Amino acid sequence: MKTRHPYLVKRVACLFLLIALAATSWAETARLLILHTTDLHDHVRAGDRGIGGLPYVSGYIRQVRAERSDVLLVDSGDVAEKGDLVAFRTHSDLTYQALRRIGYDAITIGNHEHDEFGHAGLRRFESTLGRALLCLNVLNPNGTTAFEPSRLVEVNGLKIGLVGLITPRKEQGLDFEASGRALAGEARKLRTAGAVLIVAVCHESASKCAEWSRAAPDVNVFAAGHSHEALREPVVVPETGAIIVQSGSYAQWVGRLELEIDVAARKIVRHEGRLVEMRHDAVPVDREMLDWVRQRERELAPEATDLVFENPAQIDGFSIGRLGAEALRRAAGADIGFCHPYQIIRNILPAGRIDVNAVFKTGGDRGHDTIVVDLSGAEIEGYVNALEQIQREPPEWAGFRIGREATPDGDVLRTDLDRNRRYRVIMAKLEWETRYLRLAEKVRERTPAEPFAAGSPLVEPSPVTFTDAMCAYLREIVREGKTVQDRVAELGSVRTR
Ligand SMILES: [Zn+2]
Repeated sequence: MKTRHPYLVKRVACLFLLIALAATSWAETARLLILHTTDLHDHVRAGDRGIGGLPYVSGYIRQVRAERSDVLLVDSGDVAEKGDLVAFRTHSDLTYQALRRIGYDAITIGNHEHDEFGHAGLRRFESTLGRALLCLNVLNPNGTTAFEPSRLVEVNGLKIGLVGLITPRKEQGLDFEASGRALAGEARKLRTAGAVLIVAVCHESASKCAEWSRAAPDVNVFAAGHSHEALREPVVVPETGAIIVQSGSYAQWVGRLELEIDVAARKIVRHEGRLVEMRHDAVPVDREMLDWVRQRERELAPEATDLVFENPAQIDGFSIGRLGAEALRRAAGADIGFCHPYQIIRNILPAGRIDVNAVFKTGGDRGHDTIVVDLSGAEIEGYVNALEQIQREPPEWAGFRIGREATPDGDVLRTDLDRNRRYRVIMAKLEWETRYLRLAEKVRERTPAEPFAAGSPLVEPSPVTFTDAMCAYLREIVREGKTVQDRVAELGSVRTR
């Protein structure tokens, strides 16, 4: 008996040691699931082609939260603009209301809401949201941060530091390098405050986030945005081990990042990430949100679901710009129309049923406000050449013809307009301000005499909107028994007319 006793003691001790070890390792690692969206861009409606929309994003997130308690939810900005008509009618307030219903842990500011709505608009979004937007690198004129830079949240007993960043704005904030340094400083502060994990919620591309990671190695995870990239798998930054995720755009995906965290070492020991496509046949819908969005649409934009035409094949942005220029010209009874394919047109027209909302999504937001102005033939020719040569962007126009002429200084576009006659021109206010006026100034700096020598032209706001003009024009084309594709070919492009 005596001989068996030490053996038993040893065995019991061994067992206790194993239990203790197991308990220690169990206590030291914790799980966390980060769900992430970005560049939702006012896609509050259920998506057209059976994919996407905030009611499905909400339904999916609800489902995941019902299954587990260790979920963190973040959005990397560009919540507003480029989306549905009903959201536009509320100045994107509806989209932030939807995000409030979903309940995010952190939302940062995108360049679209920053540049379009300004600080006052962003304050309005914060009050709609019921909490602060996170942004470290936008400053007040006195140099202090204009928004809440970070917050500490607790998920499943884990303290998590969340920092928001926007793609650096030229005038109102820190540049790229200074943003990286500020991120490093903010991460240190959050560590001191007890953060086990630090997540940077960035309205900036995955490759730029990798640069920020090298500047701020304390940050564990970057939820990227802005470039609309759908990263099927997370990227690991080799120098820092930080994990970068990005979930596309337009409420088409929700990203999932599963983490196992060594709590004592404050390090991720295992990760696995993927994107979940918001397929209407695979993801549960938030029925209440769907009904609420439909109700708001009936109240604020009843025409949104009206049929415009059945589209046999997808139409690209250049063709929409071409059609838009002609549609604006006709609606205003002007001589000439312009419709910039990059600045004004933000979406293609898909094949299938095209309703007013689908037309709105192409250029309705940026082409909502239009102007008319009298310009000389020389100024109009100067503008198309400046677009092509200085801006390196193709013009889309209606109401005159263009030919290409080889000169010793390279190709020049020649119009069939009378250089000295004045023409009535319509274009989006945004194109006028961000393209015409800026390019005219650049041309004036280079060659002071021609063709923008005159003082400021008389500009008047026009009641014509892109959506109304385009819907009327598209319906007219179809009534004439033509396809929109035929009309695009007739209108031609800078290469063919
Ligand atoms: Zn953006």
